[in-house]
Amino acid sequence: MRIDFHTHAFPDNIACDAVKDLSQDGKIPSFSDGTLSGLMRSMDASGIDISVVLNIATKPSQTRNIIDWCLKIKSDRIIPFASIHPSNRDYKDIIARIKGEGLKGIKLHPMYQDFEADDEKMFPLYELISASGLIVVFHSGKDIAFPDDDRADVGRILSVREKFRELKMVAAHTGGWRSWKEVYEKLAGKDIYFDISMTSGYIESAELFHDIIRKHSPDRLLFGTDSPWADQKKEAAWVESLDMDREAKDKIKFKNALELLS
Ligand SMILES: [Zn+2]
Repeated sequence: MRIDFHTHAFPDNIACDAVKDLSQDGKIPSFSDGTLSGLMRSMDASGIDISVVLNIATKPSQTRNIIDWCLKIKSDRIIPFASIHPSNRDYKDIIARIKGEGLKGIKLHPMYQDFEADDEKMFPLYELISASGLIVVFHSGKDIAFPDDDRADVGRILSVREKFRELKMVAAHTGGWRSWKEVYEKLAGKDIYFDISMTSGYIESAELFHDIIRKHSPDRLLFGTDSPWADQKKEAAWVESLDMDREAKDKIKFKNALELLS
């Protein structure tokens, strides 16, 4: 079994524009058309049973529509995560609705949502997410679309981790995209999940990746791809090729995700 903990899909009527926009007119390659059916085709071709579909509210007005879309696409194979915008004043009602509808988590992206991960203004929101038991996936590290931006820096993610002990946190992209030396030094070994999306093609060396996963608990790693921005099939094959025992591999491929989502 395989669970991809980091994917994206968009409603059919906006998928084409969304992929075009986010790929910066094709500069960043995409491997599906961004629709839900495109994602399902990719999953079928890659032996992926379940995908977690992450959504990001880039404006406060999108939050409610995103929850509606999550409820529409939720299925045995699709586990959608909602989003909340830091400027949503009614965040208490929104969290209650996300939880009440049975959704499992929330995605937050410091760059696309314009906040510093460890800004005090976020604390009431983290407090509430933590109390609700919802999972929060943070974009962590650098972002291909925001060069030299430090709002999701590994140190900031670490501060949140240390301040909100009960928060179920996932730091995307093996703890911090293109910040992997810092991840190895500061974040690896802490009680935080890493999804391993967007890492295989970008990390400085296979050795550094193995150093990180050796220092980090095999219980805190999640298979993830960032589809459509990566090829699920290629990423699935990469995980199979990693130098680790069967049990650790199964934990990454699905066991940790099942436990976290249950
Ligand atoms: Zn992503």
